[in-house]
Amino acid sequence: MDFRISPAEQDIQTRARRFAREHIAPHAAQWEREEHFPAETLRAYAQEGLVGLTVPKELGGPGASTVAYALSIMELAQACSATAVTVAVSSMVAEVLSRFATPEQHQRFLSPLLKGDFFAGSFALSEPGAGSDAASLRTSMQIDGDTGIINGEKTWISSGTHAGVFVVWVRDNGEGSRGISTVLVSPEDPGFSVGRKEDKMGLRASSTVSLHFGDCRIPVNERRLSQQGGGFRIAMTALDGGRIGVSSQAWGIAKAAMTALRQGLQEQRGSLIGEERAMIAQMETELQAAYGLILRAAWLKDHKKPFSSQAAMAKAYATETANRVCQQAVTLLGEEGCTQLYPIERLLRDCKVTTIYEGTSEVQRIVIARSLMRA
Ligand SMILES: Cc1cc2nc3c(=O)[nH]c(=O)nc-3n(C[C@H](O)[C@H](O)[C@H](O)COP(=O)(O)OP(=O)(O)OC[C@H]3O[C@@H](n4cnc5c(N)ncnc54)[C@H](O)[C@@H]3O)c2cc1C
Repeated sequence: MDFRISPAEQDIQTRARRFAREHIAPHAAQWEREEHFPAETLRAYAQEGLVGLTVPKELGGPGASTVAYALSIMELAQACSATAVTVAVSSMVAEVLSRFATPEQHQRFLSPLLKGDFFAGSFALSEPGAGSDAASLRTSMQIDGDTGIINGEKTWISSGTHAGVFVVWVRDNGEGSRGISTVLVSPEDPGFSVGRKEDKMGLRASSTVSLHFGDCRIPVNERRLSQQGGGFRIAMTALDGGRIGVSSQAWGIAKAAMTALRQGLQEQRGSLIGEERAMIAQMETELQAAYGLILRAAWLKDHKKPFSSQAAMAKAYATETANRVCQQAVTLLGEEGCTQLYPIERLLRDCKVTTIYEGTSEVQRIVIARSLMRA
């Protein structure tokens, strides 16, 4: 078994780390305070060729591995978890486009996303009343000649204020998961508008909004990503890969908390009592276990082996570990841990949602159990 990452993967990790340390980390606390979406920084990151890492070279992407992608998100999240989630969602959208879009759609939507001409891409699946149970979504699309007319609402959509392309799931083929199709929506499409911005406990530099479709008209033949009724499979495939991104994000948050904790303890007192030693040793062990799960899921995906259950394990374990690590880091630093003297209070707030989006921990356990029972 070879645990080394390849020189190409190492190169991506180094480039992401350098960018994150120079251009993101110094501003993360301020962006969070001011709820600033770092559009120009995201553009510069894309111009470095680091968005949509897994998009093949023949489609204008970097053609990197999922392992490299996971390592890059870990680096970003150590600097700013809000930036990490924005890049992770854009990269998920880029991967969906690379796999399912036509050459014309690549040119119109994928290419600007990879080059930074779009600040971000959005993945619009969730609705009021359709979160974990995405198959019950109600946003509808009716066909009138060459026009698709979309009506409904999406909620909790990351980057919705700045996205240049929205991958949207609509119902156009009856009830259930087979009634769902996937289409591409541009922010300029008539009848599309961005609604309420969520006032979140963390990740405040990432915008999370509702989207309104009021007789939103799209040229449907140019914008279909799936066959009629074939959209649900695209969502599930994308979420399997997306979970590697979220677990990497959570891992980066926890790693940043460990770094800040070490620094804080050295500043406070320089030595640990027995119980504290045991606590910190357990935190680091769990973090390393999460790292192994994440990279194993990424490796399986790269080697075209089934990875859905492994990605679900990585997500449930890494996100819950990250929450435990951040909580315990605050505990170990005492009252100072609750202040902005250290970034840990921000990391703790940022961390919670990683157990929720792209499938809650409960949903991950359903995926794992189903796969076990099928085996
Ligand atoms: C910051 C943020 C960003 C987001 N970004 C996006 C985005 O970009 N695009 C997008 O489409 N969505 C996005 N979401 C939505 C997210 O994916 C949903 O919140 C998530 O899927 C959970 O859905 P829900 O909130 O409706 O919870 P619900 O589905 O209502 O679940 C509520 C609780 O019930 C539990 N539960 C539900 N069903 C079961 C079950 N069968 N068995 C056991 N327990 C169950 C859940 O685990 C949870 O604890 C985002 C959410 C947040 C918080």
